[in-house]
Amino acid sequence: MSAEATNPEAAPTDVTVRRRGRARIDLRRLGRAALLNATAGPAPRDRLPDAIGHVAEAHRAHHPEADLTVLGRAYVLAESSHRGQFRKSGEPYITHPLAVTLILAELGAETTTLTASLLHDTVEDTEVTLDQVRREFGDEVAYLVDGVTKVEKIDYGAAAEPETFRKMLVATGSDVRVMSIKLADRLHNMRTLGVMRPEKQARIARVTRDVLIPLAERLGVQALKAELEDLVFAILHPEEYETTRALVADHPGAAEELGAVAEQVTAVLREAGIGAEVLVRPRHFVSVHRVRLKRGELRGCDFGRLLVLVAEDADCYGVLGELHTCFTPVVSEFKDFIAAPKFNLYQSLHTAIAAPDGAVAEVLIRTHRMHKVAEAGVVALGNPHVGQEPDGTAPAAGLPPAEDGERVDPTRPGWLSRLLAWQQSAPDPDTFWTSLRADLAEDDEITVFHADGGAPGTISLPAGASCVDAAYAQHGEAAHACLGARVNGRLAPLSTVLGDGDTVQLLLAQDAVSGPSPEWLDHARTPAARIAITGWLRAHPESAAPPAPTDPRPQPSVPADRRSGAELHADLDGEPPAAVRPAGCCTPVPPDEITGFRVRGGSVTVHRARCSAVDTMRGLGREPVTVRWGDTARGRVTLVAESFGRPGLLADLTEAIATFGAAVVSANVEPPTEQRVRHTYTLQLPDAAGLAALMKAMRDVPGVYDVSRARHSRGTG
Ligand code: MN
Repeated sequence: MSAEATNPEAAPTDVTVRRRGRARIDLRRLGRAALLNATAGPAPRDRLPDAIGHVAEAHRAHHPEADLTVLGRAYVLAESSHRGQFRKSGEPYITHPLAVTLILAELGAETTTLTASLLHDTVEDTEVTLDQVRREFGDEVAYLVDGVTKVEKIDYGAAAEPETFRKMLVATGSDVRVMSIKLADRLHNMRTLGVMRPEKQARIARVTRDVLIPLAERLGVQALKAELEDLVFAILHPEEYETTRALVADHPGAAEELGAVAEQVTAVLREAGIGAEVLVRPRHFVSVHRVRLKRGELRGCDFGRLLVLVAEDADCYGVLGELHTCFTPVVSEFKDFIAAPKFNLYQSLHTAIAAPDGAVAEVLIRTHRMHKVAEAGVVALGNPHVGQEPDGTAPAAGLPPAEDGERVDPTRPGWLSRLLAWQQSAPDPDTFWTSLRADLAEDDEITVFHADGGAPGTISLPAGASCVDAAYAQHGEAAHACLGARVNGRLAPLSTVLGDGDTVQLLLAQDAVSGPSPEWLDHARTPAARIAITGWLRAHPESAAPPAPTDPRPQPSVPADRRSGAELHADLDGEPPAAVRPAGCCTPVPPDEITGFRVRGGSVTVHRARCSAVDTMRGLGREPVTVRWGDTARGRVTLVAESFGRPGLLADLTEAIATFGAAVVSANVEPPTEQRVRHTYTLQLPDAAGLAALMKAMRDVPGVYDVSRARHSRGTG
């Protein structure tokens, strides 16, 4: 598909001031020599290269005082080092860093980010070294380029490469500007994806959907997120995309309908003496699709929303009062994200009003500053390492109040700090990845008020979160001592699912004699709670019920169980163990190095030797027992292959499996949806060390766009 197919210009109107459309770039224009404004008057040798004229213009619009010469130098180095390289589309490679930089410049990024963005592929792909970048552009630019170079590697793997992703977070964790560049880089690559094979398009689109779009949401970069969503929608859901596109095309009058309401609103506000700009904002395709799923039949006003921009915070409420007085408000649609900002810094009032003819229009009310943050998120926050932006405005001015002291530091928004904390406490990359994906998949947030002594405040939680989640969000590890909760004043079990606006009060034991029960995991939705509970249970195995043997992989064994011929060497003084089980936290498989511990009931739990539980158990003075895989222990593994349906797919996949000498223990093929199918195979491998190569061979089967290891048996054997 071509990037043009998702052109937002197809949407009904372009009345808005800052629409995704503005962030789009005509690459053909960049190839043309654009004459620079001669009145800018720099000495000829300092004159900016023509090709970065657009970047310079966009940058000056946000930062009138910015020094552009450094951008000129960065461009000259990038252009000369990429010379002779071409993109798959045939265009000179330099068009890519230029386009990425223009995206960031239009979002209002500061000069250092733009400099690093121009150079972002030089260290990876050209003769330029990081030392050279450091010498010519300083430590900060070198740091950002190095971060992007590390993150770049995630593009070349499959969607789920937990260890790579963990590294990526570590690389970017110390500075979200790296992530900003990465997001713009992905946007440009998605726009130009049409030249790739369909399987590759789908694979890249999936990573974008699972990781980069949620990151854009978390970083508050709505402008990038919306365009990425439409690009992914077109690739992964071509039929629904086409339906939506046709629906938008069939309602050419939608803009006028909303425009008529906008005029009434403008008149009402003028009469009330409130200075405001009232704009019609078309929804992007994914948003139209969502609203259609929610409302069924769409009316003209559903194709967009009104955006009211005012000067001061207080004006937002003034506008709201007028609208709710002069129109019929749809009360259920009212949300106050100014009093309780989302944790991605987003602030706005949301409401909906019914016009006299019954048409309902959604309205967003915010200040100009809130609008900038809503569109560009962390990109708009300026250089976090200096107190002020080059144009003298303090970047953090007027940010939402810090809940925990993290929010004021734009290099480390609260969620990113939490992710980094989890990645340190998660026992292995798989656990971390599963938690992370679950967290990123939450797009609905609820706000809960807590009333635990001290000043009352709010906590943001994913929809479906329970009192257990609230306890860990509020108290961290101290929540282990939680005994119960009051929800809206009434005693409630910890399993109670919280709703938006609930007030929760958590009751903690004074002396932490008890700990979380394993059932808490059934009610914990947030990674913070899950990882904390799992960690505690792992450190206190006597409190946990023995893990259920649901894992289809082979179980290490002991002389007591002669069937597999495995051996256990230990202080054999004790009783022979009743059973030997792989630990649920790290699920070892051959040929992992393993260590065992006796647990209550006489059985032995086996961990991977590098599992953090091993250190914990040792720290508690528990003696490890030596275990090793039996000679006949074989790898059994469950793999999930996601593919486009096509004739002969099953035969090709099973052939790839057979080529590796793996036996199919069971197979399950789900009915296709949107021409995509999911195959689940439980396999017996001749040699567990060959798993990675087998997965790669399966991925290489035409039509397959992802193969991953199932964490749990899917009931296939
Ligand atoms: Mn790039």
